[in-house]
Amino acid sequence: MRPVCVLGNGQLGRMLRQAGEPLGIAVYPIGLDAEPESVPYQSSIITAEIERWPETALTRELSHHKAFINRDIFPLLADRLPQKQLLNTLGLATAPWKLLSDPSQWPQIFSELGDFTIVKRRVGGYDGRGQWRIRPGKETDLPTEIYGECIVEQGIPFSGEVSLVGARNADGKSVFYPLTHNLHQEGILRTSVAFTSANRQLQQQAEEMLSRIMEHLNYIGVMAMECFIVGDELLINELAPRVHNSGHWTQNGASISQFELHLRAILNLPMPQPEIVSPSVMVNLIGTEINPEWLSLPLVHLHWYGKEVRPGRKVGHLNVTHADKETLKNMLKTLALLLPTEYQSSLKWAQNKLS
Ligand code: ATP
Ligand code: MG
Repeated sequence: MRPVCVLGNGQLGRMLRQAGEPLGIAVYPIGLDAEPESVPYQSSIITAEIERWPETALTRELSHHKAFINRDIFPLLADRLPQKQLLNTLGLATAPWKLLSDPSQWPQIFSELGDFTIVKRRVGGYDGRGQWRIRPGKETDLPTEIYGECIVEQGIPFSGEVSLVGARNADGKSVFYPLTHNLHQEGILRTSVAFTSANRQLQQQAEEMLSRIMEHLNYIGVMAMECFIVGDELLINELAPRVHNSGHWTQNGASISQFELHLRAILNLPMPQPEIVSPSVMVNLIGTEINPEWLSLPLVHLHWYGKEVRPGRKVGHLNVTHADKETLKNMLKTLALLLPTEYQSSLKWAQNKLS
C-alpha cells in the first residue's frame, strides 16, 4: 500500500493515521514546519487535514507534488467568498449573503438581509471564531480592519442543522453516510446524532447537492457539507474538503469510518457503501480534562487527542452507539452524571432526538 502524508498534524491527521494502521497503510501527519527531508513525501499520496497553510519549506515542496490530491480545490473552499460563489453558480441554495467591503453598506445590508445578520471572516475562522452576530446599531462594534476580509449572511431561523459526509473516488463513484444531526452552541459543535438511515427526502436532496459539488470539482476523498434545515429544504452553510467533526461517530457506528473511507478513496481502494450498524451519538469534549470514570460505561468509546486542555478547545470526543435507542438514551443519562454542567443541555438534546 502506498504511504499517505497528511498536511497538518492535529486530531484529524491522528485519526487518519489510526484508521490506516489495521489496513497496513502508513499515514504520516506532518506539521507545517517539518523539514521536507524528514518526510517520505516523494513516494506518498498527499492529503490534508487543514484547508489552508502558510508558505513554509514543506508546503512549498508539496505545492507542486503530482500526488497532492485535490490540491487546487483547497484555496477555492478555504475562502468563504469563492466557496459561496461556487455554490451559487451551481444553483445550490445558501443563506443570502454579500461581500462586506465598506461600512457604508450597512443600511442596504439590513434592508436586503434583514435585522439578524452574521459577519464571517472569509478565511481562517473555525468553531465559531471570526464571526459576529450583528443587529442594527451593533455594526459599529465591528473592528474596521475586517472590511474586505468578510462576508455577511442573513441569519437563518433554521429548525435544525444536519451535515452530509460523503466520499468520491477517481472513478467518479460516490458513497454517503446518513445525514447527521448537529447541535452547535456559540458556533462550536457540541453533539451529533446519527441514525441508521435519515429522512428519505432530505437525504436525497443532500446527496444530490454534494454530488453536484464533488463532480464539478472532480473531487477525490471525503467531503462534508453542513446544512440548515428550513421547512423541507436544505440551505448549505459551508463545505469542508476533508474529514469532519460531524463524521466522528462513524468510528464506532459504521462499518467503514470516515477516516478509512477517505484513505480508501484517495488510494483508489474498494469503496463500498458503508453499513450503519446502529444509531450513534458523538459528544465533543471541549476544554474538559480527561476523566477515567467515562470508561466505566460499557458503551462509551473515548477518543482523546492528547492535546493540552484549554477553554473552548476540542480535546477529544465520546462516541456512544447501540442498536436499541432506549439503551442508548439510558447510557447518555448516566454519562451526563460524569460530565460538567455545560454538557447537560446538549445531552438532553441528543436524548430528545432519540425519542
Ligand atoms: P466550523 O467549526 O464548522 O468550521 P465555523 O466557525 O466555520 O464552524 P460556521 O459553520 O459558518 O462557522 O458557523 C458555525 C455555526 O454558527 C453554525 O453551525 C450555525 O449554528 C451558526 N450559524 C452560522 N451561520 C449562520 C446563519 N447564516 N444563520 C444562523 N446561524 C448560523
Ligand atoms: Mg461550520
